[in-house]
Amino acid sequence: MTGVSFYNHPRLYQRDKAAIDAAIARVIASGRFDWGDEVPAFEEEFAAWNGASHAVAVASGTAALKIALLALGIGPGDEIITVANTDIGSSSSIHHAGATPIWVDINPVSRNMDVEALGAAITPRTRAILPVDLYGHPANMIAIMAVAEEHGLKVVEDACLALGATIGGVKLGTLAHATCFSFAPSKHLGSFGSGGAVLTEDAELAERMRKISAYGQERSRHYAMHGAGMGGLHHETHGLNERLAEMQAAILRAKLPHLDGTIAERRAQARRYAEGLAGLGLDLPQTLLGYEHSWRNYVIESDDRLGLAERLRSMGIPTNLTYAPPLHLQPVFADRAMGRGDLPVTERFCDRLLGLPIGPQLSMDEIDLVIAAVRKAVA
Ligand SMILES: *Cc1c(COP(=O)(O)O)cnc(C)c1O
Repeated sequence: MTGVSFYNHPRLYQRDKAAIDAAIARVIASGRFDWGDEVPAFEEEFAAWNGASHAVAVASGTAALKIALLALGIGPGDEIITVANTDIGSSSSIHHAGATPIWVDINPVSRNMDVEALGAAITPRTRAILPVDLYGHPANMIAIMAVAEEHGLKVVEDACLALGATIGGVKLGTLAHATCFSFAPSKHLGSFGSGGAVLTEDAELAERMRKISAYGQERSRHYAMHGAGMGGLHHETHGLNERLAEMQAAILRAKLPHLDGTIAERRAQARRYAEGLAGLGLDLPQTLLGYEHSWRNYVIESDDRLGLAERLRSMGIPTNLTYAPPLHLQPVFADRAMGRGDLPVTERFCDRLLGLPIGPQLSMDEIDLVIAAVRKAVA
């Protein structure tokens, strides 16, 4: 038994322990568990890292998507075109904004939204497009933005798996009207709980998102009330309580300086997999020209993925089925009456996908153990 773990949060903590401990101690000593300095500072640092103008820190990736949709005026009766081979948050956010997700098929190579299918799905009720950058491979954002412009649609990009990925050398975060990220513990930049952010170039949209995430009230008013105890309540819109916690912001600030390094590790591990797994008859993930992948997941495809998973498990190698079955076949969307055959490329992909361990929680020796096990398992 070799015993590689898929995720390993204690090991990741050890790598940044001194900085994280100092950040936590700083927040506790300040006594400011909300409306402190950490969230605004993290927003600035996160926007700068991505080369974007504004960041709004929120409580999760799902909250980021929901708040972006609400702030763009999406609501009941609106159709949002998206994909089905993704995290439930990509579509539950649309539901919770009161709108309806319309799933279209994918490109089998990038595994992302098929732009022709997008064009064919637009109706008079379509208000927005919600593309997903699956596993860290950017969606075809250039073509998607062109379609959006032609039809007057908003674009909320789900980049929860793609922090650090680039198109034409530019990091994701400035192309869509709003680009959403998750700081779930297993994402590229993991909090010690839950977190998320939205990037935008639109200052007014950023303010609206801040307001919606914090009880429908201006952030400056919250600070005035909690700081000097001044001013009354002034709720201007229907808000949520979906803010990023100060403690999480401080932890994320401690980890942000190491993000370039951990993304470089992911890219090196993906290259190692590509070399080590070539020629075995497995379909390996591809990166389309002009894109730079950020490898949150390394997902191969096989006609015998369950047999392969079982043989790997017996050798101490964990795998996962992220994300299968696709959303249009999940019980929660049974009322949509979609079935097998409605999204054939998506379904074939979800039937064959198998996720292998990747990330800075693993050493290159462990990646080599996985490669050796896969070679044995397919022999
Ligand atoms: C993780 C993820 C989300 C949801 O993020 P949470 O922080 O878990 O709410 C949404 N979409 C995608 C593609 C994700 O990977």
